[in-house]
Amino acid sequence: MEKTLAILKPDAVERNLIGKILERIEGKGFKVAAMKMAQLSQCEAKGFYDVHKERPFFGDLTSYMSSGPVVLLVLSRDNAIKEWRDLMGATNPADAAEGTIRKDFAVNIEKNSTHGSDAPDTAAFEISYFFSQTEIVG
Ligand code: ADP
Ligand code: MG
Repeated sequence: MEKTLAILKPDAVERNLIGKILERIEGKGFKVAAMKMAQLSQCEAKGFYDVHKERPFFGDLTSYMSSGPVVLLVLSRDNAIKEWRDLMGATNPADAAEGTIRKDFAVNIEKNSTHGSDAPDTAAFEISYFFSQTEIVG
């Protein structure tokens, strides 16, 4: 089983979408291997999104990600990284396919409700950024 990191972002938590999004995750056959609430500091958000530090939206993104509570999740299933990205949909909800989480719930390209790792190396980094080995089951 492959593991990936998912985040239910501040816009999703603020609008009481935790249950609806978790229902879609479980409905697609993912197992929740770890889960916790957190409110990130801007410093923690900057460390998490370090790959984007040169991008023009980096300051806004890290302010937004630290603006309210998030749900941090480790999801497990076969092909979890790609399957979770497919279920989330495109970064910009205007481009996201019908039936995806971002199409149905995202506010805009920044407040797009969920995060998902994009490759095995980033999944490993992102999972270890938020979870110790003993917090992950299965
Ligand atoms: P994804 O989350 O789909 O992997 P990226 O890794 O490219 O997308 O970007 C990380 C996050 O940065 C996005 O999910 C979104 O919240 C924000 N973001 C990406 N592109 C933009 C943009 N052009 N303007 C504002 N925010 C953006
Ligand atoms: Mg990304």
